Amino acid sequence: MHPTDLPAQDRGGAIDLLVHGGEVLTVDAAGTVVPDGAVAVRGGRVVEVGPADRLRDAYEAAEEIDARGCLVLPGLINTHTHLAMTLLRGIADDFTLQGFLARVIPREAALLSPETVSAGLRGAIAESVRGGVTTALDMYWFHEAAEAAARAAGWRLLTGPTFMDVPEPPDGRPYAERLGWAADDLKGRTPVPGGRPVLFAHSAYTLVPEQLTAITALAREHGALLHIHAAENAGEVAMVTEQHGMRPVELLDALGVLGPDTLLAHAVDLTDAEIATLARTGTSVAHCPVSNLKLGCGIARVPDLLDAGVTVGLGTDGAVSSNTLDLLGAVKVAALVHKAGGDPTAVGAEQAVRMATIESARALGLGDQLGSLEAGKRADLIVLDLAAPHLTPRHDPWSTLAYAAAAADVRDTVVDGRVLMRDRALLTLDEQAVLRELSSAATAHEKANTV
Ligand SMILES: [Zn+2]
Repeated sequence: MHPTDLPAQDRGGAIDLLVHGGEVLTVDAAGTVVPDGAVAVRGGRVVEVGPADRLRDAYEAAEEIDARGCLVLPGLINTHTHLAMTLLRGIADDFTLQGFLARVIPREAALLSPETVSAGLRGAIAESVRGGVTTALDMYWFHEAAEAAARAAGWRLLTGPTFMDVPEPPDGRPYAERLGWAADDLKGRTPVPGGRPVLFAHSAYTLVPEQLTAITALAREHGALLHIHAAENAGEVAMVTEQHGMRPVELLDALGVLGPDTLLAHAVDLTDAEIATLARTGTSVAHCPVSNLKLGCGIARVPDLLDAGVTVGLGTDGAVSSNTLDLLGAVKVAALVHKAGGDPTAVGAEQAVRMATIESARALGLGDQLGSLEAGKRADLIVLDLAAPHLTPRHDPWSTLAYAAAAADVRDTVVDGRVLMRDRALLTLDEQAVLRELSSAATAHEKANTV
């Protein structure tokens, strides 16, 4: 909706929040930048974006953020992560994906509980809010605990039941019970603005074809987004091909798993035909360049995916495979890594920023509600402090964001119109307590084992 399309009674008058005086990157389709701009927020939504002078006169704001000397942009959206893996940060560095899984999975079985996941989540939220991330799609065990932690902090989390057929599921729930449990979870959900139901199928190597089709059917029945790891590296492709005679994306296509409500994590090892399949089926991709580099998975064919018309959002993956939840860092890597083949135009600065905002929103099927600062959308925004040597002088805001800015430059973070961080202070989490609890939860099982 364009501001001038708003009903007259919505323009002007009392609002909850006015962010004013900064350079506003709307990340709308036209790439509109308002140099001395403002964003008016009421009821969790953006009411209007426009020149600061005019909006200051038009609105009576209950709360204000003075953004002079700052960049204002939509909050970043992390389309693939396992947030509570903050508990395991640093335990499996410099392994292959398969070596990584062999080390992490038994550790998870010993460590995870609703309490430890909750502690992991609060740490992840603190880190994410500091880094300007306002929404995440989180695939992990004990999603109910994760959801409660996010709700308490006022942070936008998309999560739901996870399917992974492993001998020792950390939640102790046998695989045979999971479909019924997930169906109950989906039935109990009421649609919330800026969210949607989600189901997670871990991968084609931890679930058999019958399981994948049943999970997909359940997701379709409830209009849920289906999220799955696929084609993360050559080892996975070889394993799936050996078991099923088809590569992962071929198998998922044959099983009817692909489609506009399916989001693949990674999609690194793809053939031309598989890229065409993703485009034909409207399947989206969560690109995780830092995790892919660290695990030696290779470089996803993002320029080819974009050329084919596939929606590509950006993710960090969990804090074991990327060690931080720094999505702005992932923007920089996404803007750099695809140039390695010799083409500096492969993924440009604006494209990389769009990937972490509006394209991530589209990848989640929420492009009409999140990902840009436009009237009618949910009011998720961040304010970046530009008063720093590494951000001076500034010729192009996209370049500043993609190549020069860092997570620590984020000064204020707003989710659904609520200020979660102001002047670098977290308002909905006791950060010192969160860090203490995260450290102690991360080592709780070791203490238990030595007693
Ligand atoms: Zn993952």
